[in-house]
Amino acid sequence: RSGYSCYESGLGERLHQRLALESHMRDALVLQQFALHYQPIVDLKSGRIIAAEALLRWEDADGVRHGPAEFIPIAEESGLILPLGEWALKTACMQTRQWLDQGFQIGVAVNLSTRQFQDPDLLEKVAFVIADCGLPPSRLELEITEGAAMLDPESSVKVLGTLKNIGVRIAIDDFGTGYSSLSYLKRIPADTIKIDKSFVDGVSEESEDRAIVRAILALAHALDKHTVAEGIETTEQKLALETAGCAWGQGHLFSPPLPAEQFQMLLAGGREITRAIERQR
Ligand code: C2E
Ligand code: MG
Ligand code: MG
Repeated sequence: RSGYSCYESGLGERLHQRLALESHMRDALVLQQFALHYQPIVDLKSGRIIAAEALLRWEDADGVRHGPAEFIPIAEESGLILPLGEWALKTACMQTRQWLDQGFQIGVAVNLSTRQFQDPDLLEKVAFVIADCGLPPSRLELEITEGAAMLDPESSVKVLGTLKNIGVRIAIDDFGTGYSSLSYLKRIPADTIKIDKSFVDGVSEESEDRAIVRAILALAHALDKHTVAEGIETTEQKLALETAGCAWGQGHLFSPPLPAEQFQMLLAGGREITRAIERQR
């Protein structure tokens, strides 16, 4: 009565595709077609792997690989992200417990979606998983995007506070890409700030990116937070970040996300290299 709507035939088609993908994903969860890949987070100075970021992968029955950018938004809207996210959290924690048992001293970072972050049972679920796996809570870092944290900043401060109370670490993912209130940033009990790849891209040249990265690092240091640079692809970027005072990083320069067995080979290789250096001393 007070407006008009337009119908575009493509809309029906897109909706149909989305619904098909959603039902496809429900089956995929039951059929265990999801997997976690692990990308090393390294100490830029020593090259030592300090943690792994767990990243979801989905290969369907036809061998088609779907990236998280395609399926996470649909999982988020349909609510499927809750069981999927719990599966990812549990799998990553169990895997890390196994690596600790084998003598690899590493932690794991798991991404949390907005919907998971708003789940009233989040604390209980996280506490249950770490207890069930026997993972020391400080070995788990939960990554939440700046956008998700700032949707309801007051509630984020509370939720993140309760997670920190059980000893879990918190990282702010894709930092710099969302709208962040600096006064809330001060209150958000995050341990780590992850500098988004879009700034890392231009960090090796005298550029606006470099100025922004320096500003983020200065802010992080002043607030006593760790920093991880995301998406490092070149030695020049790594050197520029190191010079600017960034301690940790991840990116294809070191390794892409890998299946657990391959990640473990990387860990074992790293340990051999460290031993060889120690023997030479
Ligand atoms: P993110 O958490 O910021 O993860 C980093 C993304 O950057 C990953 O993309 C990783 O593969 C990619 N990356 C890392 N190094 C490089 C590099 O050197 N060059 C380039 N071009 N890319 C690099 P991926 O795996 O496609 O994941 C995309 C996003 O999907 C993640 O961004 C995260 O927001 C979301 N995601 C992935 N797994 C999960 C999950 O288990 N739960 C939730 N809620 N979100 C997830
Ligand atoms: Mg992340
Ligand atoms: Mg990120």
